[in-house]
Amino acid sequence: MGRGMRGGGGGVRVARNLTKQQLGDSIVALENLMQRFIGAVSSDFEQLHTLIMAVLNELNLAEQWTCEKCEETIWKPNLKSIETSDICPSCGEDASASSEEE
Ligand SMILES: [Zn+2]
Repeated sequence: MGRGMRGGGGGVRVARNLTKQQLGDSIVALENLMQRFIGAVSSDFEQLHTLIMAVLNELNLAEQWTCEKCEETIWKPNLKSIETSDICPSCGEDASASSEEE
């Protein structure tokens, strides 16, 4: 039987110049970046929300409505994977019900 096959003959050389040390450094740098990002997000959560809704709106993936009760402007994501309600997060008014009544 042919037992002369040796490993390493037809291997694909991927990023051979990237040593384990360099790879480790990249991961550490990435972790630092993530930590900074998370820190920035948690301190500016409202800003992040505004940003996300602005992006969704830009892509026509969000609709805007104004609560009749508290006149708060509500952004509602229009995504198939997310179930949303018409209840105002600010005062709890059901917008879908109030629009039918009166
Ligand atoms: Zn409201």
